[in-house]
Amino acid sequence: MIITEEAKLKLMCEEVKTVKEGEEIGAQLLKELTESENGIGLAANQIGINKRVCVVNVKEPLVLINPRIVERSEDQFMFAEGCLSFPGQHVRTGRFTEVTVEADNHEGKLKFSADSEDINDAFECACVQHEIDHLDGITMFDRSVTPQPYKAPEKIGRNERVTITDGKETKELKWKKAQPLVESGDWEMASV
Ligand SMILES: [Zn+2]
Repeated sequence: MIITEEAKLKLMCEEVKTVKEGEEIGAQLLKELTESENGIGLAANQIGINKRVCVVNVKEPLVLINPRIVERSEDQFMFAEGCLSFPGQHVRTGRFTEVTVEADNHEGKLKFSADSEDINDAFECACVQHEIDHLDGITMFDRSVTPQPYKAPEKIGRNERVTITDGKETKELKWKKAQPLVESGDWEMASV
């Protein structure tokens, strides 16, 4: 069952202790992904398992256990993303053109690049970043390059944590610190 509660999706996932544990979660994720309508990736926390495992299935099924992005390009590309946890919604995001990933179940490094003739490479590259973001409690809305226009929240405590974005970078901080940035116009509230 795919979780759509955003509060739950904002939690950081924990590393799995063993590759075996990761593989079991990976198999569950691939099954769920196959049953989904046109999903190309899924992270464990999207099905209620708060562990650092995700799958990507663009060119071939790929399970990533405790994945880490160890290198990223400076340049980014724009991508229109959807997410199984937010059916029917799409966001224009900025993603790194190239990322290098390490994972406990892969020897060496995995390289993903959108700089290719094959559109599937761009899909795979964006998808890997989208799924690893999920494991850090980050959703596609946090990566939006066209954030929603700022609307003042009804009531927000000075110490309440909010997420703001300038279109490139996302920060989570207390409202008393975020407020001046948001009011400067350079930062906007990320979709919450
Ligand atoms: Zn997603």
